[in-house]
Amino acid sequence: MGARRADDTGDDEEELPRITASHLRRAGTICARRLANEHHDRRSMRRGTGRFRVQNQLLEDARLTHFDFAQPDPAHFRPGHELTAEEAHLYRTAARWYVALYHDERVRSVDLGTDDASGDLDNWATCVDEIGVRLVGRCGLTVEHDDGRRGVRLLRLGRGVPGADLLDDVDVRFAVLRLSAWSGAELCVSVGDLVHGARRDGTVDGPRVAELQRWLAGRVDVVRARAAEADPTPGLDCASCAFVPGCPAHR
Ligand code: SF4
Repeated sequence: MGARRADDTGDDEEELPRITASHLRRAGTICARRLANEHHDRRSMRRGTGRFRVQNQLLEDARLTHFDFAQPDPAHFRPGHELTAEEAHLYRTAARWYVALYHDERVRSVDLGTDDASGDLDNWATCVDEIGVRLVGRCGLTVEHDDGRRGVRLLRLGRGVPGADLLDDVDVRFAVLRLSAWSGAELCVSVGDLVHGARRDGTVDGPRVAELQRWLAGRVDVVRARAAEADPTPGLDCASCAFVPGCPAHR
């Protein structure tokens, strides 16, 4: 199963149905109407990006601090003015943990949108032609180690780190599926919880990627079956749903 960049062959590929990490995690339980609308990328009302502000700024500052092969420099981590006082406090905590957890590794950050070696993917999406979907969503800080190995750092604000098998974690699975074509023989994966100060590392090689691709195909089957039903199921999902307008469950 191969993957390629979402924007390199024209509009047709842009319209491939979307699969996000959340769809993989909750394909069987998320409201089917919401799932159908997200999967087919239908127009929705805009939702605020507040909950992503800290994470996004942290990711960008980590990218900056590793612009060239380097260990993280605390001077590169400053909360922006757009953050609330509470968000700025969270940012400072997370930045301190990032520097502490990753001070021992020199890496270079890689922008998949411009990196010649990225070839088949970009920062936002990876097309998987064989099953006709786009995997959509950022998956962390992509890096190159000074020995040439490629990897990804998933930076979390809480939720802990995976246990013995990194691939028990759906976000790790999603990142590997997005990045395996870029990484070559193996992908170095690191998950950092920047609230609790925990880090877990591992590598994922070809045979495990093949397992994941079979798993992906099965999950996509579930998404398609439920998206075809498209029945609204009001509940907790409604609070974060972008498709409330026109929903029969809220008339
Ligand atoms: S508003 Fe609720 S019931 Fe309607 S589509 Fe969204 S999640 Fe489903």
